[in-house]
Amino acid sequence: MEIKKIGVLTSGGDAPGMNAAVRSVVRCGLANGFEMVGVERGYHGLLRKEFVELSARSVSNFIQRGGTVLQTARSKEFPTPEGIKKGVANAKEIGIDAMVVIGGDGSFRGAQKLTENGLPTIGIPATIDNDISCTDYTLGFDTAMNIAMDCVDKLRDTCTSHERCAIVEVMGRGAGYIALEVGIATGAEMVLIPEKDLGTSRSDLIDRIVNKLEEGRKVGKKHHIIIVAEGIEGSSEMAKVVEQRTGIETRATILGHIQRGGAPTVRDRVIAAQMGMKAIELLKQGKSNRVVIMKADRIEDVDINEGLAMTKTISEDDYALVNILSK
Ligand code: ATP
Repeated sequence: MEIKKIGVLTSGGDAPGMNAAVRSVVRCGLANGFEMVGVERGYHGLLRKEFVELSARSVSNFIQRGGTVLQTARSKEFPTPEGIKKGVANAKEIGIDAMVVIGGDGSFRGAQKLTENGLPTIGIPATIDNDISCTDYTLGFDTAMNIAMDCVDKLRDTCTSHERCAIVEVMGRGAGYIALEVGIATGAEMVLIPEKDLGTSRSDLIDRIVNKLEEGRKVGKKHHIIIVAEGIEGSSEMAKVVEQRTGIETRATILGHIQRGGAPTVRDRVIAAQMGMKAIELLKQGKSNRVVIMKADRIEDVDINEGLAMTKTISEDDYALVNILSK
């Protein structure tokens, strides 16, 4: 089937770099002679026919903006058989022949269903958590880490002045990628991540923190920084017990959604531009049901079904490195 008109939507949690990806998809699409249509509010908007024609000018002033100008939403109706059929019918009604979906795993499951129901689809991975197995990188990850790093640097100043311990909870849902890299980048004493520490009892985790603080105190450390991935949970309670047991003033800080906002970093803008170009190339080649991925610093693609079945591990070396560098 010849593709003339391509839709683009952002779905799932917002991530810095989504706008840069939309801009690239739109301008690369136009450069290849396709008509481009935006779908506002992801699959929710697809069901409500929230379409907007996109020209090259519609995406001016997009590249540096955080969040998603096309808006995002979650839709419970879309994953139902009727929802999928309605989504495909709505797209076809305005002549959309293919869709580019920018989002996370859940959004790709939706993309898979669109393809199965006759609408060719390509996914671009965007989530700050970097928890999509088939790709080394997801848009938003670098920006979120830089924001978290900046916050921890600021906390370090005040911790040093008061000789305190900061337990900082960073985002990542069930994954510890943000926590691990931010831990290395901020010189944290310890990092707790779901992949390594979820099976450990709360009291053992607290013992480990307490021992680390005691060690640090002996060698003259003036501050202590513990990075906890949100998947571990309970950082406020941990802080209270650690303070009681060590006598070191310990504060928990939960960075939360602040990590999701702000202008995308260079890395996120450049990769967004490259991934957008790849998505259009794939559609031009008549390919569908693919996710654009990054592997060993190269932009590639993989079948969505295969991609969703993959698993991803954390770097054991990086995890060990936090401890080695915290002496
Ligand atoms: P993030 O990682 O930021 O949460 P995500 O894309 O994984 O992003 P989800 O909320 O899981 O976010 O999915 C986004 C939308 O995709 C859902 O609101 C739903 O409409 C659709 N979706 C999720 N899972 C499926 C599925 N199995 N089949 C069809 N559609 C789905």
